[in-house]
Amino acid sequence: MGEQQRIAIIGGGIMGVTLAYRLAQKGFSVRVYERGDNLGGLAGYMPYDGLRIDRFYHTILSSDTSMQGLIEESGVASKRHFTATKQGFYDKGKLYDFNTPVDFLLFPPLNPLQRFRLGLQVIYAQFESDWHKMDVIPVDDWLLKVSGRGAYEKVWKPLLRAKFDTMSDAVPATYIWSRLRRMMGTRQGVTSKEMMSYLENGYYTLIEALAKKCEELGVTFHLNTAVEEIVIEDGQAVGIRLKGVVQPFDAVASTLASPILSTLIPNAPQNFQQMLGKQEYLGVLCPLLILKSQLIPYYVLNITDERIPFTAVVETTNLVDPKHVKGYHLVYLPKYLAPDSPLATWSDEQVKTEWMKSFRQMFPSFDESQIVEFIVQRAKYVEPIRPMNTLHEIPTIKTPVERLYMGNTVMIYPDLGNGEAATRFAQKMVDQIVVDAPQWVSKAPIASG
Ligand SMILES: Cc1cc2nc3c(=O)[nH]c(=O)nc-3n(C[C@H](O)[C@H](O)[C@H](O)COP(=O)(O)OP(=O)(O)OC[C@H]3O[C@@H](n4cnc5c(N)ncnc54)[C@H](O)[C@@H]3O)c2cc1C
Repeated sequence: MGEQQRIAIIGGGIMGVTLAYRLAQKGFSVRVYERGDNLGGLAGYMPYDGLRIDRFYHTILSSDTSMQGLIEESGVASKRHFTATKQGFYDKGKLYDFNTPVDFLLFPPLNPLQRFRLGLQVIYAQFESDWHKMDVIPVDDWLLKVSGRGAYEKVWKPLLRAKFDTMSDAVPATYIWSRLRRMMGTRQGVTSKEMMSYLENGYYTLIEALAKKCEELGVTFHLNTAVEEIVIEDGQAVGIRLKGVVQPFDAVASTLASPILSTLIPNAPQNFQQMLGKQEYLGVLCPLLILKSQLIPYYVLNITDERIPFTAVVETTNLVDPKHVKGYHLVYLPKYLAPDSPLATWSDEQVKTEWMKSFRQMFPSFDESQIVEFIVQRAKYVEPIRPMNTLHEIPTIKTPVERLYMGNTVMIYPDLGNGEAATRFAQKMVDQIVVDAPQWVSKAPIASG
């Protein structure tokens, strides 16, 4: 089944590469088209001083069974290291541990009742398994009801601002519920610490190894190749257009963000195209500071102070041994951006000026001669926002265009956008394609041009 059937995969992020691997294992002939000059997408790397450094901080949780399975299957398990994460909270100039549920219950900025209610929220999320119920409750209402005003103002409100910028009013409780469940999934027992893993040379180590496996199965990767259009004839996807030339395929699978896909399908049903086009996403502005010495003892330091433009300090070299990155210490200073955020238009220089002002305020004794580089990274389509009562607007793998399949982080809801969910979703796409493939009737190749 499926032999010799040709599939074009658009997008060479972790979802596209996993999809290619699984489809090739099923006997399909697969080509992957990636706009960028290397694979990985959001999980890709930037070259620096002969190193490959994750563009954005990436870790793989011990409970990410799909990702851990891929690491083993692709032969890079020997490059994986597990570490207990350390998280902190920055409040009014002080740093606090925020690791185990016990830390939550002893968190000094809260009084005993507020701590108790915060703990209750974490426990409540573990026992609530009906996410549809969560989806009709505004996130603020749910947090205020269980945690109370005090814990909400000191903990949840800053965390919501960090994750959703100005858009938290629009989102349902599902988002925090899902995060709390993912966070607790990596722990055993109330005093245990979160376990995270990293790969030497970053996330790209896995992507590169998977791509090699793909190539052994006959997959070809086409980098620096932006697909211009998905060619649709009589309601069917029959190929893709590249630099004005049409390449015929039996089926097309897109892993692009919905608004990008909507621009590639002028001949798809209008309501489908419009639904994809109006999907909103948060972007991210994420400078990376390359340092000569350690800044903080935590992997993540959450920031509650609204005057500071970045919302966390993420020092990945507290997970990744600096010896794997020539002794550098890597610190990311992210800020998620609402689609209309004015910060999206800031120049790199402006970002550096504003970020460094706050950095000095937070770490007044840090010796700036230790700073080697300040590199600004950005992405536009990072975290889809699903407002309440819009579940009917989530697209399906099988689109209204025959032989056009799609997958992206909009569709993994209520799971969160991460490698685990993306690779699981790729498997669902494979299952659908395998079922449909016998019904694809080959069309005569279309004329190029
Ligand atoms: C700051 C940050 C931190 C994160 N931390 C983690 C973490 O710790 N752990 C974790 O698991 N996940 C993390 N994530 C999330 C993770 O990166 C994403 O969920 C995952 O990479 C999404 O993969 P994808 O393949 O679905 O999409 P993408 O990576 O967006 O891939 C889509 C690809 O399509 C390509 N493309 C676009 N248009 C075209 C076109 N016309 N033709 C051809 N190609 C095109 C793009 O270049 C891109 O490579 C983080 C993300 C960010 C931004």
